[in-house]
Amino acid sequence: MAILIVDDIPEQRQKMREILQLGSFEQILEADSALHLFEMLGLGENPRDGYEDQSIKLILMSADLGSREEGINTCRVLKESRHLRDMPVMMVMPPGQPEQLPHVFSAGAVDYVMRPVNEMELLARVSTVLRLKEEIDSRRARELELLEVTRKLADANRILTRLTFLDGLTGIANRRYFDEFLKKECRRSARLKKNIALIMIDIDYFKPFNDTYGHQDGDDCLKQVAQVLDETVKRPGDHVARYGGEEFSVILAEDVDQEGALTVAQNLRANIAALGIPHEGSQVADHVTISVGIAMGRPRRGSVPEKIIVAADRALYEAKRGGRDRVHFSTTMPFGT
Ligand code: GH3
Ligand code: MG
Ligand code: MG
Repeated sequence: MAILIVDDIPEQRQKMREILQLGSFEQILEADSALHLFEMLGLGENPRDGYEDQSIKLILMSADLGSREEGINTCRVLKESRHLRDMPVMMVMPPGQPEQLPHVFSAGAVDYVMRPVNEMELLARVSTVLRLKEEIDSRRARELELLEVTRKLADANRILTRLTFLDGLTGIANRRYFDEFLKKECRRSARLKKNIALIMIDIDYFKPFNDTYGHQDGDDCLKQVAQVLDETVKRPGDHVARYGGEEFSVILAEDVDQEGALTVAQNLRANIAALGIPHEGSQVADHVTISVGIAMGRPRRGSVPEKIIVAADRALYEAKRGGRDRVHFSTTMPFGT
């Protein structure tokens, strides 16, 4: 813990040093001008963000440093610096200038002593200021700790919220997310008078896949399928989720028309086929394939999302009935015309 004496007159610096040493303050630094002080505190020609000697806890500054009031102005400069704002400055006042005192305090000094300096008074005041400074520092450290804890809590909360909306096996959005998102999008599209499309996807002959390769490989297949679906659907506003079991869903909520929805669905089908996961148990191909059902419509105020789910489900059923490994577009208008 160091005290920095700032005075242009060597004898005065010496005098202060002696008093402080009497009070067992061992670490004493000196600066003989405002410039010298700024250099020491990192406010010189190349200002640093922070000063190197973090041990400085108090500055004892002569009010008439070099010229009248220069000490007071220097104090003001320190207080304007972000990293020195909290550094306590005690002003050492020349005798017979009490009219200067308001300037001393308005410049940000915490206290002052008058020359000729009374030893006991200086030591008592220095001790008080240092104790105050210590208290403020530790309170600030606690505040910082609290801020850090609050930030970590907020992070943890965000992660938890994310986790409740993620499917544990595949890592993509889960059914809960799907339900909430579809509800929200229905309302939004009703407001904006826009279409939404829902694509339902089901892996073909997945029960035989499990039977042939085992549940573990079944899980791996689900993960790969989920990843490819997720990578295929890239536009903001398009959302993939695991609907349940070996079924997935995609909501297209941004400027969607029949052609666009069909293109997305065909891409999904083609990309899963291109994965080329062997599937001996399938009756439509030698690799894993999906069937895809699409429904599209323009929700109205109060429309329930279930309508478009039912329509997309029916379309998916039609894709299955039509021979699987294909896309079927529902001609029904789930929310009416
Ligand atoms: P279809 O072509 O008509 O869709 O036939 P399918 O065999 O895919 O249909 P079905 O609904 O009879 O079978 C779905 C299978 O998906 C049965 C179930 O064991 C499997 N499955 C559901 N969830 C999981 C999972 O998390 N992991 C694994 N490995 N299999 C799952
Ligand atoms: Mg199924
Ligand atoms: Mg299936």
